[in-house]
Amino acid sequence: MKMKENMVTVYIMGEAYDVPDSSTIITAMEYAGFQLTTGIGCREGFCGACATIYREKGDYKLKGALACQTVVTDGMTLAQIPFMPSEKPIYNLQEITADINTVKELFPTIFRCVSCNTCTKACPQDIEVMDYIQALKKGNIAEAADISFDCIRCGLCALRCPAEIVQYNAATLARRLYGRYLAKKSPEVDESIKEIEDGKYDKELDDLTKMDRKTLSEKYYSRETKLR
Ligand code: SF4
Ligand code: SF4
Repeated sequence: MKMKENMVTVYIMGEAYDVPDSSTIITAMEYAGFQLTTGIGCREGFCGACATIYREKGDYKLKGALACQTVVTDGMTLAQIPFMPSEKPIYNLQEITADINTVKELFPTIFRCVSCNTCTKACPQDIEVMDYIQALKKGNIAEAADISFDCIRCGLCALRCPAEIVQYNAATLARRLYGRYLAKKSPEVDESIKEIEDGKYDKELDDLTKMDRKTLSEKYYSRETKLR
């Protein structure tokens, strides 16, 4: 059993709960008895689903973070956000061009950027958010796509933006345009697509879908990965 000194008090939706001091915001809420069905995903900082806001004891600032990556502190006040509502233009990638006119038409808000850099400071992925917005303003889609490559669409940048820009949706447009129109064609991708169409991986996929969760998890974490 945990000793009393290993517990901290947090406030969830205004109610006080004692939780282990090593808890993340997610595990603290679960320890307190909440069953999280939205605003939660991979629990490992990759999916961007658990953006949350909180306030620490004695601090007037409202802070934003990923709930699965943030450890609680004594006196912390928590409020979970089920999802980040945002303005999202609808477009057909086949019917738009990879240039500044498309950016202007779909995301006119980015030209309101006041270069305050608040978005960069809010980003849990350490992405230079303001820089990709500046790149987009200049019509440099390739640069915006590159800088924003690790975006997990958590929405924390937009939550803080005084100009009400939805940075991650603009970045998604940049990466889509880059992938569709600007990236150099890769013969390896064409080969891989053909292999998939010819059924080369059908058996492997079939075996994976039949695996139990534990075996699948072990296989996932022991897989070979390549660094960018
Ligand atoms: S750029 Fe914005 S949406 Fe993307 S990870 Fe950073 S804060 Fe989250
Ligand atoms: S927070 Fe908004 S206004 Fe400030 S630099 Fe980022 S995009 Fe520009």
